[in-house]
Amino acid sequence: MRLLLFGPPGVGKGTQAKLLSQEFGVPHISTGDMLRTAVAGGTPLGKKAKSIMDDGHLVPDDLMIAIVREAVSGPGAAHGFILDGFPRTLPQARALSTLFAELGIRSYKVIEFDVDEEELIRRLSSRLMCTKEGTIFSAEAEGLTVDSPCPQCGSPLMQRDDDKESTVRNRLRVYRVSTAQVIHYFDALGVVYRVDGTGSVDVVNREIKLLLKAKP
Ligand SMILES: [Zn+2]
Repeated sequence: MRLLLFGPPGVGKGTQAKLLSQEFGVPHISTGDMLRTAVAGGTPLGKKAKSIMDDGHLVPDDLMIAIVREAVSGPGAAHGFILDGFPRTLPQARALSTLFAELGIRSYKVIEFDVDEEELIRRLSSRLMCTKEGTIFSAEAEGLTVDSPCPQCGSPLMQRDDDKESTVRNRLRVYRVSTAQVIHYFDALGVVYRVDGTGSVDVVNREIKLLLKAKP
């Protein structure tokens, strides 16, 4: 059970990663979370990453791969892992392959969440948040507008900057550009499996589990 998950922001990849992690008893390795944990815990890697980020730089590939190395070679990952948010660049993908070879990891699968971008944009940019409790509502599904009161508490609703259509479009573009090479790299290795990411959480979860049974 060694999985690498790829999917655009807002597709529910994190939700699936958590579900699979519980179902299969393998760690969900989110590099973003790990970085935050390492920084908060003041580990040597965390300290190094913090000083780089404090200077306003992106954490370099060698440091990211060191963090991933710790996670995938640790005792917690003896039965596998779900890697989420890594690799993001071609050098990271190559470094990960090298790391897998070093650790004797031969079989793994890359799951790519396919999604109709216009549909995703429509879904994300129709989200409204309660200004009091932070609950997220689907304006479309619940027939709300930004002028409606919160269905739960009556407070005003707002659209988060993250959910504005232009922001969503930009995040999708960044995702597409940065992951195209990475997916291409793994495609050449024959380890990429695609799942339709537009279904409900249950449907997508079932589809992924079917893919896991496929012969590599
Ligand atoms: Zn509310």
